[in-house]
This record gives sequence, C-alpha cells and structure tokens, in this order.
Amino acid sequence: MATPNSITGADLIAASLYDLGVRVMFGIVGIPVIEVADACIARGIKFISFRNEQAASYAATAYGYLTGKPGVCLVVGGPGVLHAIAGIGNATHNCFPLLLLAGSSESHQVYKGAFQEIDQVATLTPMTKFSSRPPSLALLPSTLERAYRTAYFGRPGATYVDLPADFIQGAVDTQEPMKLLPAFEAPKPMADPARIRAAAAILKSATAPLVIIGKGAAYARAEKEIRNLIETTGLPFLPTPMGKGVVSDYSPLNFAAARSAALKSADVILLLGGRLNWILHYGEPPKYRDGVKVIQIDIEPEELGMNAQSSIEYGIVGDISLAVDQLTKELGGFKFTSIPSLLTTTKARNIANAAKKASNNVIPMTYEHTYKIINEAIKDTKVRPVFVSEGANTMDIARSAFDVDEPRARLDAGTMATMGVGIGYGIASAAAFPNHITICIEGDSAFGFSGLELETAVRAGYPLVVFVMNNSGVYRGVTEEAYANSAETPLPSTALGLDVRYDLVAQACGAIGMVARTPDELYNCAVTALTCGKVALVNIIIDKGVTKKLAFGWLASTKKSQPKL
Ligand code: ADP
Ligand code: MG
Repeated sequence: MATPNSITGADLIAASLYDLGVRVMFGIVGIPVIEVADACIARGIKFISFRNEQAASYAATAYGYLTGKPGVCLVVGGPGVLHAIAGIGNATHNCFPLLLLAGSSESHQVYKGAFQEIDQVATLTPMTKFSSRPPSLALLPSTLERAYRTAYFGRPGATYVDLPADFIQGAVDTQEPMKLLPAFEAPKPMADPARIRAAAAILKSATAPLVIIGKGAAYARAEKEIRNLIETTGLPFLPTPMGKGVVSDYSPLNFAAARSAALKSADVILLLGGRLNWILHYGEPPKYRDGVKVIQIDIEPEELGMNAQSSIEYGIVGDISLAVDQLTKELGGFKFTSIPSLLTTTKARNIANAAKKASNNVIPMTYEHTYKIINEAIKDTKVRPVFVSEGANTMDIARSAFDVDEPRARLDAGTMATMGVGIGYGIASAAAFPNHITICIEGDSAFGFSGLELETAVRAGYPLVVFVMNNSGVYRGVTEEAYANSAETPLPSTALGLDVRYDLVAQACGAIGMVARTPDELYNCAVTALTCGKVALVNIIIDKGVTKKLAFGWLASTKKSQPKL
C-alpha cells in the first residue's frame, strides 16, 4: 500500500516507462497487471487493450519498427506470455525492437504451482536479448531501462521484464532516486574506412551493379543518405518488400519490375539493411550470377557471410545512414550511366503486362483489377497511405500493385511470413502515423487470425481501412457445388466458408462494414472507407481462383544443394 511518502510498484513502473518516453502501450490486462496499465493511463500513456496477446504483441513490434524505439507490450503471466511469444519471435526475426512486460506470481510463491505460474524468465532467455526478473522493487526502474535500451541498441530485437505481483502491489519510498533519463537515440557505428574504399572501388569497376534496399534501411531512417547515393551515382536499385519507399517506388532507377533479371545479371550488389535469407534467395545461383560480389552493410557483424561468402570479404559493419554517407563521399561524384538494356526492356515489358492484367474488368473481380480500383480511390481521395498487407496471393500481388514514395509506409507478413499480424500492425501504424490513412489489405484467411481486433481499433479511436480479399479460401476457394456436396465429399483443407460476411463482423464491432462484388461498388465503398475517418471494412468478393496452382512464387527455383562452405 502506498502512503503519503511512497508510491506503489505499479506507479513506479508507469513513471519509469513515462520517463523513458513511452507514450503508447499495447496489451491485455488481468491479475496482476491491471494496476500497472491503469497507472500508465493515469500518467498519460495511451494503453491500447487488445483481445488477444498475439495481436497485441505484433502491434507492439510494428510500433517499434515504425518509431525506432521499442514497442511496449504488457500481458499477464503464463498463458499471456505464451501467446505473446508470437510477438517475441516476430521481433527477433524481423529485427524490430520490442519490450515485453508480464505479471508473474508473488516472489514467495515461486515454484509452488502459483496462479498462471511458468518460469517466464527461463522460457524467454533463449528467445530474447535480455530477460530478467528484477531482484527488488527498488531495482525495477533500472531493469526496465536496461531492457528498453537493449531492445533497440545494436541490432533491434526483443527483451523481457517479469513483474512479480508483490512488486506491483508493493510500495516504494518516493525519496529514493528513481528518475530515468529519456531514452537516447541508438548509438550509430561508422564504417571501417578501408572497407569503404574497397567497396567504392568494386562499385566503380562493376558492369552491372545493383543496390538492394532492405527494411533495415527503413528502420535505420537512412532514406536521406540512400536517396542521395542513388541520385548522385545513378545506380539501379530494387527494394525488398518492406524496403519499398526508402527511395521512392516512382524513381526511374527502381528496377523492382525487373527483379529477377536485375538479381540474375548483377555482378556487384550493394545490400543495405537486408539479409540474404529466403526473401533474397540466399544470394545464390540460380537466382544470382555465380561469383557475384556482395557488399553487405549491416549493423550486425555476425550477419556478414551468413550466405553469400563474398560478403565476408566485402561486407561492412556500420549504421546504414553513416556508412552510406561515407560510401557516397568516397565515390566522389562517380556516375554510373550504362544501365544494362536487359533491365530497361524487361522493366517496360513487365509494367505493360501488369497494366494489361489490371485492366481485365471481369466479375467476380481479379486481384489485379481490385487493386487498380483501390489505387484510383486512393488517388481521388488524396489520402496519404500506409499499407499493411498479409495473405498469400493477396500480399504477393499487392506488393507490386501499390507503390509508395515514403519510407516505412508498407508493412507485411515479414521475415517469418506471419499470418495474423495485419490488424495489430494496422492499429500500430494508425497510432504512429496520425496524418496518414492506414490501409490493411487482408487475405480472408489472414484476416480471420485477428479479425476481432477491429473492435480494438474502434475503441482505440483511430481511423483504419480494411479491405478483405475474399476468395473463400487459403490460396484459393472451391466451387459452390463443392460446398453443396460437402456432406459426401469433404471440403479441402484450404476451403473457408463461402463468401463469409466479414462486413457484418465489422458492423458488430462498431466499425463501418460494406460488401463489394463489382468495380463500381468497390470504388464507392473504397471512397467511403478512405474518407469516413473511422474504422471501415470492405468485404470484396473476388474470383475464387478454384483452378489456381497452390504455389508461392517467391519460394520457387532456389537451389537444392547446401551452400558452399
Ligand atoms: P529485408 O527483409 O528487407 O531483407 P531484413 O529484416 O532481412 O530485411 O534485414 C534487416 C537488416 O538490417 C538486419 O540484418 C539488421 O541487422 C539490419 N539493421 C537494422 N538496423 C540497422 C542499422 N541502423 N544500420 C545497419 N543495419 C541495420
Ligand atoms: Mg483467401
């Protein structure tokens, strides 16, 4: 109990978080963390209460990515932590900063089978950069500060602090020193000048250089330096799915539309804040030229050489904004003027093909035509969009259909290809970008993972636009006859309910819910959704693609053999 000269542990936690600069938190309360959340609210922190810890933890990771400081997620112990492990994994794999806080049993009940007791610190130690149960109530602020700092210093990731019930309910003398400094900017290492010189020399001698821009560059806020590099050197580039917008998608040097040709023909690659994992086909043949030299710039030394062996020799450790600035200076006005004609012709051909596909005006609508109409509505309403996209075809086709000219304006299922992140990410984006309109483009299956978080969004008071691409299935739907005969012939595992009324789910949550089956209906619904200033969902009944191949283009044609060691 607090006295006139003391404050509760809950208030101490809230004060520490506030001092560090936390203004938005995500989570779900229950015993014993209700007091913590309420103390945070009383301090002026916006606490967004979710319906499932998974979605709350995903939202916190996205908020961390978008703001550059850890997203904070508060949950109960035991099952709350187990659900939030989804966010821990998401943060670690995507290199997003996250601080997870969870209630735990009273100190004297540890190991006795207490309420919701699991050994959370031990469980999360191998999954986080730092996992701790503060040794005493007095040491809670410094433990929180360390966990917060560790999440975003160096390569960003997840950290964890256990909040024992007796600490939350305990009291601490206000005379004790406990004021924390506001969180600092993460320290930025400069690159080794010798490596920068070597990189500049290789780039100058390349016949087919290519810059690849990853989401680490977006996270690092390196847009000014990278735009300057591209403009002064004229080097062609392509972004990874979340690296879009660091340099505008509309730049003439963007060769995303000739992605395969650009990857395959490059003899020197400058990789900025991206990993050579499955998203970049490991940097190996057949997607890449044998012997390609990879100049990988990353903040994490262990990342170099992970796949492309040449990145051991040419890789550079450093903060992207500083290292790119050093490199641009070292290049000393060098201009690359001979973009291979293969790239320009492939780009023009692919853009023309995509435009043709997008104008295929049929009912039920195709993905491509649907996206064309949504783009028209975005253009006509002049909103400043942030895109969140998840699903299989939904996400894959949306990636190239929606261009962005700002960094961090596109989130998707990310490194782990996680379904269920969409609405949480949407809420986080709406919280981080009050002057933009966040647009979630959701596969119907993906939407189902966290659809009830629409109610969270409504309650949080942010506008959010959700388009559900409803093909009645995972990857594809089945025919109406298949539903009619399902008593005799079971439906395939990919089938979802036929034309499920997600718009009515939205209405039940207090959002605007609309259904669209034709281009005209879609355009009108999209304009309403984009301009209403509320949470709005458009349930778009698209072609079921019943004969569509079950495949993910991204995973095709990687080498079967192990990498050379
Ligand atoms: P993508 O999926 O777009 O390829 P990844 O998530 O695979 O991107 O890679 C992001 C990389 O960016 C990670 O290896 C991470 O260590 C790195 N990174 C994050 N912040 C910085 C920074 N400030 N400077 C340099 N590299 C960074
Ligand atoms: Mg689907």
